[in-house]
Amino acid sequence: MITSETLVHAMSQSALVGVALLDDKHKFAEVNESFCRIYGYTKEELIGQPLSMISPTDFRERASLLYQDYISGNTGKDVKHIRRKDGSSAIVHITTENVQEGSRQYKLMQLVELPENTKSLLEKKKELEIRPIAENVNIALLRCNSEGKIIFANDAARAALFLPQGYQVLNMQSYIFSGNISRQLPLLQLLNEKASFENIEVLIDRADGSQLWILLSARPIVINGALHYDMSLANIDALKKMEQKLLEKIELLKSTNKQLDNFVYSATHDLKAPLASLSGLISIFRYEDDTEQQEFYLQLMEKSIHRLNEFIKEIVDYSRNSNQELKVEKINFQELVDEVFEGLEHMEEATITQKIINIDQHSLFFSDKHRLKVVLSNLITNAYKYGSSHRRDSFIHVHVQADSQQASIHIKDNGQGISQEHLDRIFDMFFRASAGKGGSGLGLYIVKETIEKMQGNIHVVSEVGKGSCFIVTIPSQIKTENNGQMSLDI
Ligand code: ADP
Repeated sequence: MITSETLVHAMSQSALVGVALLDDKHKFAEVNESFCRIYGYTKEELIGQPLSMISPTDFRERASLLYQDYISGNTGKDVKHIRRKDGSSAIVHITTENVQEGSRQYKLMQLVELPENTKSLLEKKKELEIRPIAENVNIALLRCNSEGKIIFANDAARAALFLPQGYQVLNMQSYIFSGNISRQLPLLQLLNEKASFENIEVLIDRADGSQLWILLSARPIVINGALHYDMSLANIDALKKMEQKLLEKIELLKSTNKQLDNFVYSATHDLKAPLASLSGLISIFRYEDDTEQQEFYLQLMEKSIHRLNEFIKEIVDYSRNSNQELKVEKINFQELVDEVFEGLEHMEEATITQKIINIDQHSLFFSDKHRLKVVLSNLITNAYKYGSSHRRDSFIHVHVQADSQQASIHIKDNGQGISQEHLDRIFDMFFRASAGKGGSGLGLYIVKETIEKMQGNIHVVSEVGKGSCFIVTIPSQIKTENNGQMSLDI
């Protein structure tokens, strides 16, 4: 028997309010007439029964979820859809609170049946319940009105577009660059033109000024007679960037292919020419009795063989440079330059040309010795070849200035020089500006490629009739501190 004044008062309330008292096991301890009427049970049927029994069997599972909140101890107010004993449904406003009766804890449920038209209220509630889904998914969702004002953006959309939190979002306008349409137009214009579209790739301006590649779909929707657009957007930024990289790689491959074609064409020519001249020389040699003349032909044959040999060496240098990693070692420029000059002693011009070598190196320097040799060897060979060995004052000046960070190498001659129109092209594959010197046009191309591999650069200053100066700058691969400590160059 309940004696507490509040409870007695609650129980005897107006005939409209259904009141039930649940014990600590969620069983009905007391119910009033209105409660029985709302649910369609008699008082006897309810007392002592668990809360879940007030729903028809097929609804109990859902009902237990419905009442879960109350069972787990939460109290509060709510509008609920309930089922009566006969299966018909009703909408009720439920209030629950915890009450104390002596030493025992009870839960007091009070409910009022709401009229039928409250249904729209429930539908609105359902709509609200969808919001958490929109917030939960990882797809960015946006709704905007026909003026382009964003009236809803879920978390993913806010994050993707850096939209500011809260409702100031509503006034934001977005502008896009369209990937497929290849036009730059405001997003709203695109929506007005197409109304509905699926998976358009768009580069969109974000609220922070940065840009993002998205896959955009849009559908028109009429809300309260006004046109709106619902949009979903997927972040494809990483994919697009990868695609761009791939396209760049394809372009590179195409140009490499072209270069290769070019290479095969010119290489075959350069291999064939000395061979043809060799076979011609052998033919006439057979019919030559004069030993002096024979000696002359032999010298010419030697030259052809030398040309072939040089060409093959260049191809090997080229292939090594593109395939092999840098082999970093300590560089002594004095030794290196001396070695290169020694290797070129066989050249006719070597004996006539004055060599001026100036090495200024006081710190350790690290680079790829073989590659540096290829570069110096090619540049010095050219200085001989295109120098002024016919003049008495012909010279080659090699000046190296190296510190622990970088080396700059000047190779200067007072030879024929290079005309302005050729200057831009001398580093191209197979380009020759001087006919009759027997070169392949590969040398400076290899020089440039090799220097690039060493992260250096090369440029040339030249004047026709006065001479040329090639200036190479190479960074040290390991930078050394003043105190002798070394740090790896990344
Ligand atoms: P090649 O096998 O023809 O020497 P390179 O690639 O080494 O090929 O050089 C390309 C062209 O650049 C040469 O044909 C020549 O006209 C010009 N050139 C290179 N070095 C010099 C130089 N020191 N002085 C004048 N011209 C040069």
